[in-house]
Parts: sequence; C-alpha cells; structure tokens
Amino acid sequence: MNRKQFIKSIAILPLAAMKLNELNKWTDPLDSTEKMPVLFLGHGSPMNAIEENEFVQGFRNIGKTIPKPNAILCVSAHWETRGTFVTAMPRPMTIHDFGGFPQALFDVQYPAPGSPELASETKAIVKKTNVGLDEKWGLDHGAWTVIKHLYPKADVPIIQMSLDYNQPASYHYELAKELNTLRKKGVLIIGSGNMVHNLGMLAWDKLNTDNYGFDWALEASDKMKKFILSNDHHQLIHYKSQGKAFDLAIPTPEHYLPLLYALALKGEKENVSLFNDKAVAGSLTMTSLKIDKA
Ligand code: ZN
Repeated sequence: MNRKQFIKSIAILPLAAMKLNELNKWTDPLDSTEKMPVLFLGHGSPMNAIEENEFVQGFRNIGKTIPKPNAILCVSAHWETRGTFVTAMPRPMTIHDFGGFPQALFDVQYPAPGSPELASETKAIVKKTNVGLDEKWGLDHGAWTVIKHLYPKADVPIIQMSLDYNQPASYHYELAKELNTLRKKGVLIIGSGNMVHNLGMLAWDKLNTDNYGFDWALEASDKMKKFILSNDHHQLIHYKSQGKAFDLAIPTPEHYLPLLYALALKGEKENVSLFNDKAVAGSLTMTSLKIDKA
C-alpha cells in the first residue's frame, strides 16, 4: 500500500476513532516538535555501561529532564572515517570496540533500532559535504555505553554520524550547525567523547580517588568551561593555540571534537548546564553538558 492508498483507506474510518496526533506520528516519524536540547556526554571508561557510579546516575538524571526524543543522532569519538557518514541500517549492531574488559561487558547488547529516515533526512539537510549512508557500522561504545543509561529500554531509534579525520575543528563546528533543524523534529543530538582525554598519562593507582586531576588537566578543564560558559567558541575551535595544558588534554582530537558538535548547536538565548564535572585518574574529565532553552 502506498501513502496515497493508505490515506484513502483511513479516510473511510471514523476519524474520531483515531487521534490525529497519533496518526501524524505514524506517518511521519520526524514530526515537528519543540526544539530538543543537545547533549555532550563524557563517556569515560566502557565499564560505565555496567557499573553503578555517580556518572551513570548523572546520565540517568539528565535523561529524565528531556522530552522523549523521536530519534537520536550521536557523534561518537569512536567512529572516524574519511568523509562524513551516517549509519543508515534499520538494526544497528552493538559494537564492542575495546579489549581487556570482563566478559560481562562483551555480553551487553543494546538493541535500539536505527532510523533510515533520519539518515536520509540528515544527508538531505547537510550542504557542506556529501554525507554518505553507511550500512556496516552500528553502535560503538561511545554511543551505547552512555545512551543505555538515558534510555534503558532501547526504544529510541539511533543513528551515528562519523568524524572525518581529515578535517579541521572549524569544519566540524560548521557542519554541526547544519543539523540544527533536526532539533525541531524531536531529534536529540548527542556528542560523546571526553573534554580532557589523555589515556597515555592515566594514573591507574588513582582510579578510585574522587575527582583526581593533574594540574594541567584541571587547568585545561577550567579554561574549557570558562570558554563554554562565556560562549567563546572561537577559542575552543582554535584549541591548538591554547598552550601546553590543552596540548596534553587533547593529544588527539577525536574525543574533543564531539564537544564542538554540541556547542555549534547552541542558540544565542540558550543555556549550558554542566554535570558529571569531575576528573578521573589524573588525565580524563567526565564533564558533560546540556544545552537547552533558557
Ligand atoms: Zn572513548
């Protein structure tokens, strides 16, 4: 049955029997909504997927402050490609893209559906580049280990957008701006990474020490937060000119760039609220944020 036949067939039903808004939802999964908030989530260790801790609680709490989305678009630190892609399969697999963790973590499945509709829509609205439709990726741990705490029932469709590793920070920031219209279609856009992320310098003996950050990590974190809260995105895009602390905090850009995707979507009159704002094991921060109407 095509759309025209479908509309014709329901026209003969008593209209009162069907709530019109339900009908709209059925025929158009990306129906207009209030502007959805935007999140940047510091994902940290994959073990957050199965551990109980304050960060997991923070993810759960923030989920409760957001209207249930029609779909999620997640920009994860863990999907880097040449060119920009979105996942377009109806059933994305749960990717266990890590090693050296307990079997219990490999056993986790997060069976949220994909959204080929949102993938096509994203491709259509982005003019900056030709967004490729990907059928092979799925949900990497940057996405599922955190989103599972927001939506434990795995009942919100998710697509991922990749990071083009050939492009500078300004490209990512400008590309993200083009995603803004999705917010009015009930799409929750999530950047997932870590603002300060230097795994090579992790102090393993301080893993369980509350809010333990090296001086340079705290310096970088404080500066980042100052720039975020004063809307000085220019400084954040030009992170390579911010000195030694930033160089150590961002040895490679993939965990930092998802932050720029989130910030690029902030409207002038919107607020940024921080949560999970703590350092872990010296060289990692879990600092996360929500952008929402004031
Ligand atoms: Zn990561």
